[in-house]
Amino acid sequence: MAAILLDGNKISAEIKAEVAEEVKSLTDAGLRPGLAVVLAGHNPASEIYVANKVKTCEALGMLSEKYTPPDTVTTHELLELVHDMNRRDEIDGILVQLPLPKQVDAKAVLEAVSPAKDVDGFHPMNVGYLSTQRPGLTPCTPAGIMEMLRRYEIPIMGAEAVVVGRSDIVGKPMAMLLTNANATVTICHSKTHDLPKVCHRADILVAAMGRAGFVTREFVKPGATVIDVGMNKITDRAEFDRYFRGNEKREAAFLKNGSTLIGDVHPEVAEIAGALTPVPGGVGPLTIAMLMANTVKACKLRRGHSLKQPALTTERA
Ligand code: NDP
Repeated sequence: MAAILLDGNKISAEIKAEVAEEVKSLTDAGLRPGLAVVLAGHNPASEIYVANKVKTCEALGMLSEKYTPPDTVTTHELLELVHDMNRRDEIDGILVQLPLPKQVDAKAVLEAVSPAKDVDGFHPMNVGYLSTQRPGLTPCTPAGIMEMLRRYEIPIMGAEAVVVGRSDIVGKPMAMLLTNANATVTICHSKTHDLPKVCHRADILVAAMGRAGFVTREFVKPGATVIDVGMNKITDRAEFDRYFRGNEKREAAFLKNGSTLIGDVHPEVAEIAGALTPVPGGVGPLTIAMLMANTVKACKLRRGHSLKQPALTTERA
């Protein structure tokens, strides 16, 4: 039987509607949440991401600010900008879009962001809060995946979860969130022996590797929930045919755009998994929704507003 497709667009819309409601009541109380985004230098992909973030922020009623220092910006200048935003009460979230120009010490800039305003959840303080289950800000992509699992009522407690990938922004926080939610978690990476066998024991398999179509049928226990975080662009016709031959809708889009997106999970997995996130339309839309949710959360945590009993359940064990 074909897997149920877990609809990231639907969950993202739900989260954003909840965030918009919270923004309204905070604004009515004189606490309009605000997000500042820093886009340093010229990078076409980053420009699209930032434009989306600013647009979503405004659509949900939040204050939104964008700073665009030039390619030649120095570490010192960026630190000054971040310090200034740290000081401003109306700014609840600060997002420094990566990558930064090569002369900039990116680690120094990211660590300068106040942990209370670190809506990406990358600051070591927030990493520590997550691992010790204290209230804090959690990286958006894994937090969004937890929302997806919960809203589709996929059992987590006691489940065997396998996370492939150990990056600071996806794999590690994902594993930590699943651990906090009482799954039994295994983390895999490029040195893992017999990856298909390890993955095959998963009730929940999260693929966050950046390897097109790598997770094939033999990795997946029948009925498992498979979360495909990967976003890989295919431009080669032969490669397209290998994954999507016979998929007319995909083919029309491929011919029109000259490319298509594929995750880390091979499309054949849909025949064996119980539930699967599509690419596109699965994990991707959740990330920006959670950025918005994190900005509201940062506003409430920092400005002392008591957290309403959570519409967003990410922190709950
Ligand atoms: P990184 O490159 O930082 O990490 C990749 C991880 O995958 C590493 O831990 C690496 O292992 C592991 N890995 C790579 N190849 C293999 C292999 N053959 N076998 C086992 N493990 C392997 O990537 P990110 O975590 O930043 O992103 C992962 C993917 O998710 C990318 O496709 C990215 O585009 C996508 N992404 C999607 C988002 C969304 O919103 N949908 C948001 C963020 C990322 P090792 O540590 O040993 O090198």
